[in-house]
Amino acid sequence: MSDTITKPRAVERVLAGQSVMDGAGVKINRVLTQALQRRLDPFLMLDNLASDQPNDYIAGFPAHPHRGLETVSYMVAGRMRHRDSAGHEGLLATGGVQWMTAGSGVQHSEMPEQEEGVMEGFQLWLNLPARDKMCKPWYRDFASEEIPRYTTDDGVSVQVIAGHSHGVTGAMQRAVTEPVYLDIDLPAGSSFDQHLPPGHNAFLYAFRGEVQVDGKSVPNQRMAILANTPDADGVRITAPAGGRVILVAGKPLNEPIAQYGPFVMNTQAEIYQAVQDFREGKFGQTAA
Ligand code: MN
Repeated sequence: MSDTITKPRAVERVLAGQSVMDGAGVKINRVLTQALQRRLDPFLMLDNLASDQPNDYIAGFPAHPHRGLETVSYMVAGRMRHRDSAGHEGLLATGGVQWMTAGSGVQHSEMPEQEEGVMEGFQLWLNLPARDKMCKPWYRDFASEEIPRYTTDDGVSVQVIAGHSHGVTGAMQRAVTEPVYLDIDLPAGSSFDQHLPPGHNAFLYAFRGEVQVDGKSVPNQRMAILANTPDADGVRITAPAGGRVILVAGKPLNEPIAQYGPFVMNTQAEIYQAVQDFREGKFGQTAA
């Protein structure tokens, strides 16, 4: 099935992320920052970690809680060990994805399992609808070979982490926010179309080479927010010299967003409750 589109979306903005330290001192490019949460609803955060310097990542992310959201970790290169208070443990290796629904609350740790070499990956935060924020925590690891993929006639290689693309059903589906999450590798001179409903918020991030969207350049390590052009039926990405991007899109929740660090709820009262529950040990413990 082709996803050929007739009217492509324009680019609204191209922006660089913010360099931040998180966890125990991990150097990150925060691509989707808090200021963009409303614009890119239902997505709350996108972090990109990319380094061959162990000092940038080796301290990892020791035990910390989450409530009210889902975290989606995609390891482009490297190995990260995950443990949580629900007794889950997994190793995220090159090409793997971990989808974690924090729901009512988990405490987990994410620690590098390598002392040298390249560590590169993304963590995306997807909001939960109000009615699901206190759901039972859940998680699943997908090894690289479990991520559905296909190659177009143009030689574009696509991994479908979530949603649908060209008739291929991704590893994960979510009913309310209908997230699409693709890793798209475009050889020089190729073009790629992805159908997207006009009301869904969408962005892409270039992490190899440079791509073009509706005549606008998206250089390496830059994010493009795609306009919600009313009559557009998708996005067209071209790569005159080759490039690789992640494309993320979803249906907005249009609900209030109240965030305090790793807790994302709808009201301040729910945030106070999360902090209190955490202090009272209701999120459980995780082995370091
Ligand atoms: Mn976390």
